[in-house]
Amino acid sequence: MPLSLFKQPDEKAADHFRQAYEKGVNLGPQKYPDAVQHFTEASKHYSSIGNAQKSSESYALATLFYALTNRNDQAWKNCSDALARVPETNLNVGFPASSSGLAQQASVLSYDLRTLANVDGESRDTARVAAVRELAQRYMDLVGNDLSLWRLLQEDIEPQKRAHYLLGLASLIEANSLADSEPQKSVSLLSEAATNLELAVADPLRISQGTRAKRDNLSKFSRCWFCGREMQGHGFHYVSLRATVSPYTKQRYASSLQGAENMVEACKTCASTIRNVSDDVARVYFERAMAEMRALEQKLNARMTSLENEVHSLRSRLSALH
Ligand SMILES: [Zn+2]
Repeated sequence: MPLSLFKQPDEKAADHFRQAYEKGVNLGPQKYPDAVQHFTEASKHYSSIGNAQKSSESYALATLFYALTNRNDQAWKNCSDALARVPETNLNVGFPASSSGLAQQASVLSYDLRTLANVDGESRDTARVAAVRELAQRYMDLVGNDLSLWRLLQEDIEPQKRAHYLLGLASLIEANSLADSEPQKSVSLLSEAATNLELAVADPLRISQGTRAKRDNLSKFSRCWFCGREMQGHGFHYVSLRATVSPYTKQRYASSLQGAENMVEACKTCASTIRNVSDDVARVYFERAMAEMRALEQKLNARMTSLENEVHSLRSRLSALH
């Protein structure tokens, strides 16, 4: 558009601002990068003519459509910061949306991505627990608000259910960290987690089923067949081992045989002792077998060398006869 060379900065600003919608926002997510470009240009031109309000609005809109395209925690953080600097107003984002509302939602989204990076059902990083609970609270604060950001993301969200999910996740992480040292406390945290996860309905990290299974296993008690100590937590503090159990043993010690058919239960300490001893024995046998193999190999090599020599000398004698 060569004419723009002769346009005044205020006209250029208005042009770019209009084009951000016509060539970007109104055409849908695929054209958001064009919207970003035009909003950025508009912001520069508004700034050059001293229109701070329009300049900061255009810049905030640029960061918003950039974040909608890139969707990472830093982009949402920049967007939230830029929106927060705009004096409260209704922005046109394809529909009217409150600038402070958008700023709050972008901040929640940024915090969400940062807090949940690399978290799964096995996480035991207690340093995260407080942050996950804080995130749940931030979702609770969104209840009843107009969630324009999720409308732009074309995603459905129920902040209260998301908060329940996060509270469940926080209890699960805490329970994981205590399973080795305080199984009883861990069980009550797992029950709390399971209840919250049920209220959440959606399960994006797929942790619901595992949480219930952990709670059930960790609630179980058994007595070790070997040392007789009572232990809590199947798979955590005691395990089942294969055994040959005679009918006599079964009859006489029915109450001590708590596991399945032809299995006995062993506390982790006894089980690890048995495993370590059998590893040591296996290593001795392995080394002995290898030494015997090497001796046999040497014997066979010597025998082969002597046979080769014999063949050689027979050949020489044969050729001497001709
Ligand atoms: Zn034991």
